[in-house]
Amino acid sequence: MSASGNPLSIPDNTFPSPGWLKVDFHLHTSEDPLDCLDHSALELLQRAHALGFHALAITLHDHVLSDPAVFAAARKLGILLIPAAELRLDGADVVVLNLSAEEASKLKHLRDLEAFRQRRGRSVLVIAPHPFFVMGGSIGKKRLIEYIDLFDAIEISHFYTHCFNRNRPAIQLAKRFQKPLLATSDAHRMEGFGDHYTLVQAPADAPPEVIFDAIRAGYVRPVSAPLTIAQFARNLWWIFVEHEMNKRRRRLTQPTSF
Ligand SMILES: [Zn+2]
Ligand SMILES: [Zn+2]
Repeated sequence: MSASGNPLSIPDNTFPSPGWLKVDFHLHTSEDPLDCLDHSALELLQRAHALGFHALAITLHDHVLSDPAVFAAARKLGILLIPAAELRLDGADVVVLNLSAEEASKLKHLRDLEAFRQRRGRSVLVIAPHPFFVMGGSIGKKRLIEYIDLFDAIEISHFYTHCFNRNRPAIQLAKRFQKPLLATSDAHRMEGFGDHYTLVQAPADAPPEVIFDAIRAGYVRPVSAPLTIAQFARNLWWIFVEHEMNKRRRRLTQPTSF
């Protein structure tokens, strides 16, 4: 644990260092039909490039972004973009990396992950996002333990302060079951991107399965610091007021299709 008492932060001057890849595997963009966000995947890629990210996963809700133009843009910027989604299975959010839209459409229940994992082996990574949070689709302690073998890693959510920190039980559980912790931004706004990420020790040109192997073996350093009270309040305002208003506005302005 660092002197500041935060077990997650490491000084940012350790990056960039050879052999460590900067990754964020839980991200949202305006291409999500279930969300209403301002920044597109292409805008996010530009920002990621400026911030020195090596690998990303855009994890729209129940939807795999597979636009070839986005993947071509990522390649051009030297970023490994892994097809992924944040699926809601039996009411619980699960982040699945390196799957096709067709594969995602067949995953309906948590137990469906078992056959999927058996078929795909080391080429997929399954993360439990924000498992102990009360809002949204958190899996909760009971089911996370019940299905723990289906998960490769547990998320350190960005959404915490010094006083309010639902990551603490997640960290304990990860330790108990020897699962690596991945810090992500779960960014729904561009300003939420870049401060919470993970360093993975792997070669610069590593394909997804090699990065996943490194994560499963624990070669990870989550980089995350608590939000300030102002940042936390700004997040709450966005979730409960701005985002809801934007969604309502979109519903009113979009023509109804039959
Ligand atoms: Zn979620
Ligand atoms: Zn999310």
